[in-house]
Amino acid sequence: MSTTTPVSAEYELFIGGQWQPAATGETFERENPATGEPIGRIPRGSEDDADRAVVAAADAHQSRAWQDVPGARKQQLLRGIADWLREHVEGLTALVSAEAGKPVAWARFDVLFAADYFDYYSGLVRDVGGRTIPALRPDLFAYTLKEPAGVAGIITPWNFPLLIAAQKTAPALAAGCPVVLKPAPQTPLTALELARAFEELDFPRGVFNVVTDTGPGSPVGARLCSHPAVAAVSFTGSTGTGARVMEACAPTMKRVALECGGKSPMLVHDDADLEAAVDGALFGIFFNTGQVCNASSRVLLHDSIADEFLSLFVERAGRLRVGKPTSEDTQIGPLISREQMERVLSYVELGKAEGAELVLGGEQIMGDLESGYFVAPTVFDRVDESMRLAQDEVFGPVLAVGRYHDLSEAIERANATPFGLAAGVWTRSIDVADRVTRELNAGMVWVNEWLAMFPETPHGGYGMSGVGREMGPEALHEFQENKTVIQKTGRRELVFA
Ligand code: NAD
Repeated sequence: MSTTTPVSAEYELFIGGQWQPAATGETFERENPATGEPIGRIPRGSEDDADRAVVAAADAHQSRAWQDVPGARKQQLLRGIADWLREHVEGLTALVSAEAGKPVAWARFDVLFAADYFDYYSGLVRDVGGRTIPALRPDLFAYTLKEPAGVAGIITPWNFPLLIAAQKTAPALAAGCPVVLKPAPQTPLTALELARAFEELDFPRGVFNVVTDTGPGSPVGARLCSHPAVAAVSFTGSTGTGARVMEACAPTMKRVALECGGKSPMLVHDDADLEAAVDGALFGIFFNTGQVCNASSRVLLHDSIADEFLSLFVERAGRLRVGKPTSEDTQIGPLISREQMERVLSYVELGKAEGAELVLGGEQIMGDLESGYFVAPTVFDRVDESMRLAQDEVFGPVLAVGRYHDLSEAIERANATPFGLAAGVWTRSIDVADRVTRELNAGMVWVNEWLAMFPETPHGGYGMSGVGREMGPEALHEFQENKTVIQKTGRRELVFA
């Protein structure tokens, strides 16, 4: 794989260990969001393709082709994927950057993080859980087995295409489930490249399959949700689609894990280290151009430090290096598509109309970046929770700042959205940190940090941010059935004679 910008390539679906075109023979083109240039021609998968992939995965499950592989061998294979990703890091970095518009430095981080997921779950695969329940009665011994649920349907978004594919695939395989991966239509290339690793390593056929599709809707994603032979669906995407996925999974009673949207509040209290807090807030909202589920898209500032914080923030935001993703110096790249850029800019107009005060940015960047979808880092002050700017996930480089008088008010306002993905506080007081940590409704709380995440730290949302947990040992549970075994010694006393 080359280390430069990839040239446009033709791809096929990966089903049952073989590359094959979509049943209809149709394809679609994917463009580089920084330049608008084509980077790949992708099979336009349909229900039929989803069905073929599910059959391949279900065969692998029924024959126990993966389930019965000894733990030590499974570990070698999963570690092999991690090694493969690291060996191909520069080519994959170029591809992640080209398909998602990510600055190469951050695209490289995605690839290495993806490798780390396979490393982490290659360890857990030898210890997938189960417990003994020894104290029922002397003649009874009970234990639980954690068995693979069956075929896992994995549906991913475009903002961290390779990373989220790995985040779900690694625990699914560690739990013993064959996988059918359906990547986002905007970013299917790295998912298909990941299939090359499975092809090159000695995985049983059908254990990992990739089926791509494009809109309207998602024929393959929808079929994975309705297919009776899919046992578990793990979805990351918007809250609206997540709700549809849950509904579609209901008739066949699948296990469903949903990682959805957020509008995560960051509190900056009166005793905070302002320089660190400003840096955390900049990273929190502008990393990946704000297209991050955990973005600190709301910052609530204590009145006494609000002006100082904002002037430092705006000064540093104005100096961020927005530019071509291929440059190692670039900190912020384009949005994923024209549609997303138009959506973000419409929120800028809405914010102004709602009475929020635009203090930075708010426009598309023109000049030599005009052919891409670049929006300037944008900050609104005086946002309150009645505004849609404080309620809706914008998914772009748009920060909504509010001000508070006391901690109770800050906590109440922080909790005043339907989401509950992440939250955080900057403070030097352990009492403030402890109170905020306990009282904020969020699946992840950072104290004097933001966006620090590791394969071992569970992640997921309260409320409309999702159902279930990813990462850590918790992710294994999303793909496992619990079988309780109660075993009798000696002859059973007749109770129904
Ligand atoms: P999306 O909901 O539009 O699409 C997500 C995936 O679902 C895509 O692969 C899409 O093709 C597929 N899909 C669409 N309709 C479907 C249907 N009816 N049935 C099954 N699958 C269907 O989301 P997106 O725009 O790709 O991603 C952005 C969203 O993802 C944001 O809301 C963001 O917050 C969320 N996200 C959440 C997390 C998290 O961990 N909570 C992480 C990353 C992104």
